[in-house]
Amino acid sequence: MRILVCNDDGITAPGLKALVEVAQEFGEVVVVAPDRPQSGMGHAISIGVPLRLYPSREFGSLPAWACSGTPADCVKLATGVLGEKPDLLLSGINHGANFSISVFYSGTLSAAIEGAFEGIPSIGFSLLDYSMEADFTAARALVREVLLLYLSHPFPPHVPLNVNIPNLPLSEIRGIRLTRQAKGRFVEQFEKRMDPYGQPYYWLVGRFESQDTEPDTDVWALEKGFVSVCPLLIDLTAYSYLQHWQPIPR
Ligand code: MN
Repeated sequence: MRILVCNDDGITAPGLKALVEVAQEFGEVVVVAPDRPQSGMGHAISIGVPLRLYPSREFGSLPAWACSGTPADCVKLATGVLGEKPDLLLSGINHGANFSISVFYSGTLSAAIEGAFEGIPSIGFSLLDYSMEADFTAARALVREVLLLYLSHPFPPHVPLNVNIPNLPLSEIRGIRLTRQAKGRFVEQFEKRMDPYGQPYYWLVGRFESQDTEPDTDVWALEKGFVSVCPLLIDLTAYSYLQHWQPIPR
């Protein structure tokens, strides 16, 4: 099996290393990752600027490239320039959570979703620890568990998975759950500071507020110590509203 590994925290992120280590147990790995942190880029792509791919020695003899673009660019370049036709695309392990509406902001998931656009079975992994010094010991074991499950019970390639892993020791993980996105929002707060020239600048310090207490959501599962596996749909159409203006009065 050929496995493309991407992320959004950049090619030097420890979470990427952890994912590559597990991926190597399952097949031939090729890494294409951003050359700098690209968290929160959502599904951005680079238009009108040159994109560069640099061979990287970050993973020893493993084929690896650092890309000057976004996570979605990485997947596009891997398939479109490097000619990769992976059987599986793994993104992450992200340093930080990607539950609920984070899917829209997440660079980690944009790589997985881009993979799904290309018909590649794709999974994004996130650990609930933003620190660059995060401990991926338990996460590695849980990624392995999810991959074994995925390979024996695959999802169709147009359904990428969003996997979130609680920041707990393995012995405290209660299991793996299929979940739906919790309803919620980020309560955005900006810290106002002053630059050395006396001009104000703003630093985003929002926090997530769940508006959903049902026991089938990603937020619920993570709070209870379960690994959350949320299957995603690319089609955002609100099908139940397609008759809303029928017949269209004019
Ligand atoms: Mn990230």
